Amino acid sequence: TRELADADTAVQAAITREFHRQEDGIELIASENIVSKAVMQAQGTELTNKYAEGYVGRRYYGGCEYVDEVEALAIERAKALFDCAYVNVQPHSGAQANGAVFMALLQPGDTIMGMSLDAGGHLTHGARPAQSGKWFNAVQYGVDPNTQRIDYDAVEAQAVESKPRLIIAGGSAIPRELDFKRFREIADKVGAYLMVDMAHIAGLIAAGVHPSPLPHAHVVTTTTHKTLRGPRGGMVLSNDLDLGKKINSAVFPGLQGGPLMHVIAAKAVAFGEALKPEFKTYINQVVTNARALAATLVERGCDIVTGGTDTHLMLVDLRPKGLKGNVTEESLERAGITCNKNGIPFDPEKPMVTSGIRLGTPAGTSRGFGEEEFRLIGNLIGDVLDGLAENPEDNSAVEARVRAEVKALCDRFPLYR
Ligand code: PLP
Repeated sequence: TRELADADTAVQAAITREFHRQEDGIELIASENIVSKAVMQAQGTELTNKYAEGYVGRRYYGGCEYVDEVEALAIERAKALFDCAYVNVQPHSGAQANGAVFMALLQPGDTIMGMSLDAGGHLTHGARPAQSGKWFNAVQYGVDPNTQRIDYDAVEAQAVESKPRLIIAGGSAIPRELDFKRFREIADKVGAYLMVDMAHIAGLIAAGVHPSPLPHAHVVTTTTHKTLRGPRGGMVLSNDLDLGKKINSAVFPGLQGGPLMHVIAAKAVAFGEALKPEFKTYINQVVTNARALAATLVERGCDIVTGGTDTHLMLVDLRPKGLKGNVTEESLERAGITCNKNGIPFDPEKPMVTSGIRLGTPAGTSRGFGEEEFRLIGNLIGDVLDGLAENPEDNSAVEARVRAEVKALCDRFPLYR
């Protein structure tokens, strides 16, 4: 019955410091967001106490009548949001959602074909260090060296040659719209399943700003915590109910035990929010802000991979400034701007160094930043980059000045108050 602040001062102190870090800094990590108070509150509830192995109406534990209501709401809202026939809201994360699909559709040793990490794919799409790369024969496609975009003819040729059982579309650093129809045609040509991992763009799809994969893919996976602005978690969707049965068995008992019912409650709340007209306004602003940030960085002498963005994220090629991703990320962090170093297509640097940074607008837009604020942020980034290029050993003067400007901006857009 004790409040956290009294019961555990050490943990509370770290949480408070994290709150101030979020409030006083600019969050540009493209996979992060700032959830509503309602989404956060749903997670800190009595539902965390409940075991509910199984599915709605078919549980292995008693006392599940109210968590059944919650899971049914999450499923119903997700189906409405993405206009599909089947949803599983139990995966604990995006990686678990992808693992469940592999378990449902593949045998160890089968060939899968996903986008390579350096071109913008995700670890779970067949990268060497991941389970997907170790347990399957993973073939990877990339982007065209000239356009830095997917060359669908090349993907088709690779699929014909390698005959994958599963083709994966989607990734973590793709700034441009994806052609799901074309991916399905390629999958059909070689007799493969098509899985779309829409983790990054789920919010854009829900808002109708990016075409939906659901009319084309056999199965769609996602995280719920990126542009969709829900709690950390995963989800699997499809229009094929028979496939859905296999996926249910793969999630539980195949891969997971008890679902996180408090997180599923928060997913239901987030999907409810995403069904409201305000969410469309929010997502449109996310994309408008990304374009404003990209345009400002181009004015400041940066290259943007593919020349711009259709989505919430962009990859900044730092080579025209003579900078590396790792030192740039660190200098921006000291200036109060958080982002991540990221490989760019055909990056000559190692993954821990990189020639790029990845920037995204979902979190900043959630706290109320518009185009004007993102242009200011683009110029602040430009100042840090120019300072670093001029003074690679010590950029502290520029970092301190920018940090003060960041704080002044953040003070105008408080969090959760
Ligand atoms: N799929 C994509 C495209 C992602 O970008 C991510 C996370 O960054 C994941 C899957 C994995 O999600 P999680 O971190 O929840 O396991």
